[in-house]
Amino acid sequence: MVDVKERVPAIDGWFTTGELPALLGSRCSACGSYFFPREEMLCRNPDCSGRELQSVELSRRGRIWSFTDNRYQPPPPYVAADPFVPYVIVAVELAAERMVVLGQLVPGVDVTGLHAGDEVELVLGTLYEDDDHEYLVWKWQPVAGAAR
Ligand SMILES: [Zn+2]
Repeated sequence: MVDVKERVPAIDGWFTTGELPALLGSRCSACGSYFFPREEMLCRNPDCSGRELQSVELSRRGRIWSFTDNRYQPPPPYVAADPFVPYVIVAVELAAERMVVLGQLVPGVDVTGLHAGDEVELVLGTLYEDDDHEYLVWKWQPVAGAAR
């Protein structure tokens, strides 16, 4: 028997967990600004007094705006693998939303081959696990063969 752990989001309400996962943001009905994480009460655009914010799925693809290699274990509440496994943080620009979202790059990608402008796609990966659960978070995965 293979023991399959239940896969659950590490943070509730920040992303969908279907076959094509997406980040959950909100969009102001008045000015069209997007927010991530979701904004529930008020539009944060200082020139807008909008109070109607719709929950929306954000684009699943974007382009790398900046990235860095993290070789130091972040302090709690970050739950790190033991021993700590370095990872790459990418800032990804979503064109339609005109916003930049941070996230980890999928493991196993050689950072020396990474460039600003590279296209990436949102996937789910394991942030950490315990005996019964795998805790998921979004990660960015380079799109194979994508033109820059
Ligand atoms: Zn607004």
